[in-house]
Amino acid sequence: MASLNLSGVHKSYGSTAALAPTDFDVPHGEFVTLLGPSGCGKTTLLRIVAGIASASGGEIRLGGRRIDTLPPEQRDVAMVFQTYALFPHMSVRKNLGFGLRMKKIAPAEQARRIAHAVAICKLDGLLDRMPRQLSGGQQQRVALARAIVMQPALLLFDEPLSNLDAKLRESLREELVALHRRVGTTSLYVTHDQAEAMAMSDRILVMNAGRIVESGTPLALYRRPVDAFTAQFLGHTHLLRLPLTGRGKDCRVTLPWGASAAIDELADGAYSVDGAGSALVSLRPEGLSVVPDADGAGEVTAASFTGAQVNYTVRIADLSLRVTVTAGDGTRLLPVGQRVNVTVGERLHALKSTGQDPGHEGRA
Ligand code: ATP
Repeated sequence: MASLNLSGVHKSYGSTAALAPTDFDVPHGEFVTLLGPSGCGKTTLLRIVAGIASASGGEIRLGGRRIDTLPPEQRDVAMVFQTYALFPHMSVRKNLGFGLRMKKIAPAEQARRIAHAVAICKLDGLLDRMPRQLSGGQQQRVALARAIVMQPALLLFDEPLSNLDAKLRESLREELVALHRRVGTTSLYVTHDQAEAMAMSDRILVMNAGRIVESGTPLALYRRPVDAFTAQFLGHTHLLRLPLTGRGKDCRVTLPWGASAAIDELADGAYSVDGAGSALVSLRPEGLSVVPDADGAGEVTAASFTGAQVNYTVRIADLSLRVTVTAGDGTRLLPVGQRVNVTVGERLHALKSTGQDPGHEGRA
């Protein structure tokens, strides 16, 4: 069993803190993603686990064994890089065998592991090519196979798909998920691409400014984030601070255009309610609907049909709201200028307040 455990791991460059003291666990076999904007510290964290960078303090354990004191080659981890990092002067076969030769694995076992990795990474027929004779997607498959043959206790991925075009990225993403299901190695994956993180991960650790702000399954983080940063970073949303009415199960928020919407019950003295009885909520475009009404408070200012859905921009109560409607056979595209009412189709929930509280602005 190879779970990864970090406790108090931190990193400073001179007086600059790149990573605040960080604790987290990746249970055996889980695929966990570090997700956050550029500069939030996710690569630093990954490189510290790999042993390519040193921590300023803290402890890292893999399968119960302390590894932060060990050189990279003794940590039982393998890493897949954004730039593939293949040896350019070696054939695919030699690239795959390099680490095994260094580890003095018996030739028959080397051949068995390489054959297995070639099969699951779809590299048949490419073994005698040089890296320059491969497409970007093929090179990344070789890099992945080169990590897998080592049978590491932990696989680390540093934005491995970001150099590929959108279509290839999506198909390799699915392949990686299927491969993880088959191989089952504990994995830590770094990306700034929220769609990629949501599609691939058992669990996401959302990072901002050198710290983990929230952790959860993709569904929980998207549907019920606790932190306002998470709500804004995953998908599109409008953050609004809204007045509360009622208590307990009857709790509602008053929307800026006068309508009200149900909100999950708030614990007494909940972090999300300030002294004035208001809550910070996230309105997702797909949680809103538009209803044509000549006397409606809103006006459609833009409408676009994207195949599966229609995206509207609605000017209402000084806000520019994005509303996404699933398109079906009966869908009628509302024209620009159409007066509408905007309704909230789902129960809202309160977010943790942040220093950057949007007040009533919440502009899209
Ligand atoms: P990106 O997605 O752009 O790679 P990231 O989230 O991986 O960003 P890191 O590369 O981990 O971010 O960087 C975290 C912080 O540490 C940044 O503010 C960065 O400028 C700083 N940093 C990283 N490496 C060094 C270094 N060698 N010397 C000084 N500061 C550094």
